[in-house]
Amino acid sequence: MYHHIKKLMFTVRVGQPDPRFGNMLLEQFGGAHGELAAAMQYSIQGLNCENMACKDLLMDIGTEELSHLEIIGTLARMHLKPMKKDAAAAEHDPLVAIAGGGGVTLCNSMGNAWTADYLKVTGELDVDLRSNIAAEARAKIVYERLINFCDDPGTKEALQFLMTREITHMRAFMQALDSLGKPPLSIGLIPPTPGIVDQYYNDSTGEGDDGETDATGPWNDDPAITIVESPALAGFQVEAATPKRGRTNSKAEPEASTSRSRGKAEPAAKAASSHPAKADKSSRG
Ligand code: MN
Ligand code: MN
Repeated sequence: MYHHIKKLMFTVRVGQPDPRFGNMLLEQFGGAHGELAAAMQYSIQGLNCENMACKDLLMDIGTEELSHLEIIGTLARMHLKPMKKDAAAAEHDPLVAIAGGGGVTLCNSMGNAWTADYLKVTGELDVDLRSNIAAEARAKIVYERLINFCDDPGTKEALQFLMTREITHMRAFMQALDSLGKPPLSIGLIPPTPGIVDQYYNDSTGEGDDGETDATGPWNDDPAITIVESPALAGFQVEAATPKRGRTNSKAEPEASTSRSRGKAEPAAKAASSHPAKADKSSRG
């Protein structure tokens, strides 16, 4: 159950209202990476969660996000308020001024209505936790940009608080994912197809006008990875991809990895992830 207490989690102080900036703040009120989306995503995931420790975490953070929604809504309202009566201010956002009376509605900074389509809820705890880690990263960067475009010290401080909490949440979700003890590439129960999972398709080749090259990184510069060069041009095709066995018509030999992976739940994917990143190479001739 929810209970409302007539205090803000962070006391908001605004010096000079800035309707233009108030409009930007709406992105974190009713936008895709905003506080309502976060609150609903974690709370609804919590309803589906059968791991009681993680359910507690999802409900704790989901509820905290509602408190963030209250802060950002209060902050936006303070900046938007002059639009109700001041014609010059109203010009910053006619929709907020005329339809909204200088108040907040659940819209983003472009006036698009909030939608449940923003939410990522899969009913699979580890998959949801990954979505949440990414969601916190997105919320963090949006707050950082807002801070960079903000002149008012009091507003900046509130945004700094909100931004900081997103990092706290990101860490908690990372630790929760880690606590499940699943190998990083283990998603669901059906294993990926041996061989095929360790093929790297070099589908973008040549050198671009801006100097982009055919690059090398840990994702393709690894003994466990087989590179298939220009698969579409080379007539490459996958001929079989059962969970136990893959076959392709390239010289890349998927059969080679089947013995290594036989009987394991996490076959070639584990091999692909077991080699540390090599940072010394950045491009291939
Ligand atoms: Mn938040
Ligand atoms: Mn958060």
